[in-house]
Amino acid sequence: MKRRTFLQHAAAVAAVPLGRFASSTPFARGAGVNASAPLHVNGARLNASLTALGEIGRTAGGINRYAYSDADLAGRAYAIGLMGDAGLAPRTDVAGNIRGRVPGTDASLPPILIGSHVDSVTDGGNFDGPVGALSAIEVARSVREQGVRLRHPLDVVIWQNEEGGTIGSKMAIGALTEADLDKVARSGRTIREGTALVGGDPARWREAVLKRGDIACYLELHIEQGGLLEKAGLQIGVVQGIVGLRWFEVTITGFANHAGATPMDQRQDAVLAAAKFTVAVNDAIRAEPGRQVATVGRMVVTPNTTNVIASQVVLTVDLRDLDEAKLARFTAVLEQLGAGIGRATDTTFKFARLVDSEPAMADPRVQDWIDASAAALGLTRQRMPSGAGHDAQEIARIAPMGMIFVPSVGGISHSPKEFTRPEDVVHGAEVLLNTVVAADGGFPGV
Ligand SMILES: [Zn+2]
Repeated sequence: MKRRTFLQHAAAVAAVPLGRFASSTPFARGAGVNASAPLHVNGARLNASLTALGEIGRTAGGINRYAYSDADLAGRAYAIGLMGDAGLAPRTDVAGNIRGRVPGTDASLPPILIGSHVDSVTDGGNFDGPVGALSAIEVARSVREQGVRLRHPLDVVIWQNEEGGTIGSKMAIGALTEADLDKVARSGRTIREGTALVGGDPARWREAVLKRGDIACYLELHIEQGGLLEKAGLQIGVVQGIVGLRWFEVTITGFANHAGATPMDQRQDAVLAAAKFTVAVNDAIRAEPGRQVATVGRMVVTPNTTNVIASQVVLTVDLRDLDEAKLARFTAVLEQLGAGIGRATDTTFKFARLVDSEPAMADPRVQDWIDASAAALGLTRQRMPSGAGHDAQEIARIAPMGMIFVPSVGGISHSPKEFTRPEDVVHGAEVLLNTVVAADGGFPGV
């Protein structure tokens, strides 16, 4: 029988002071993944660490811990200190990712990996990344303190430079090129320089590459960054996957001519074509049910002058969905719309593909464990896609992946107004903790 061996936690858990935000509600047995009551974290300690990290890189404009800045280094140092306090023996690997470990009882098993990031965007908030990163540390600390005996090692990771394009997790799966290392990050330093600065070794980063089988599964808690959970009045999002994304650059070519002397029926107006195309894309995306989204976000008009009919518009389309087939189908729809509007307006449409990222699906078993953990904790939840990108989308290429969302107040993120309620942070951490326990029992053959 491969039942979990963590049941001795019950005595230890009573000795752990439950914080102000920790739930003290007893839960029914046998409701979900656990035969016993679900485990809890020290919620007050978790939220205190989040508050403390939020003082690092705080400016009048918001949180500024963009990768490789002094504040990023200070934020990482704070997290490393916490991991040390938690007994995780933290180290920075050659890719610049921070790693720590709670050993398992079976040294032959690969680790369960949990984590997120602590870097921010410019003028961002303190919840995108830190909620998952500090919760992962708290979960590992709870496992140690409560004497939860996991068969798998439990590894905590804090990925470097998430906001600059999931750099640390891309390195972890070998998806970065040498040319990528010379790209300049927001801090003004290249990724190569930054990786060295945070304690990695850019000449040896490939030694940190994980292959399939190296980790049992990857779990990431994150704020939703949208408003669906709040609107639905739900506490937990069970992420089904991270949407795929296609970016197109569309060049519409007309003919520049006099705005006063050219009759309306003799124009080749690139702005008119761009406007019709923008409306048509919106109509097409909304015409069928589903969560697909498309955005025309940028237009560059030539010559961009009041009294000249535009000769050219270059615009972008951002298209996202969880279903690769739907992305392909809408790609064809966009091209057909362009061709039709081109004929009607005597302009030409040329499409170029700028970015193409496939959807990253969460493992169905992991989704079930997250769902069952939330149920055992008495939390309301729904399954949902992630519209934003995360480190989890990279790790999903080499391991079963799962993500837990907690509500963002007002659906606001990448802003100093970003906020997730302390009790929701604790809920997320506790779902993460219990999902780790479920995963530990759920990979008997790994
Ligand atoms: Zn994030």
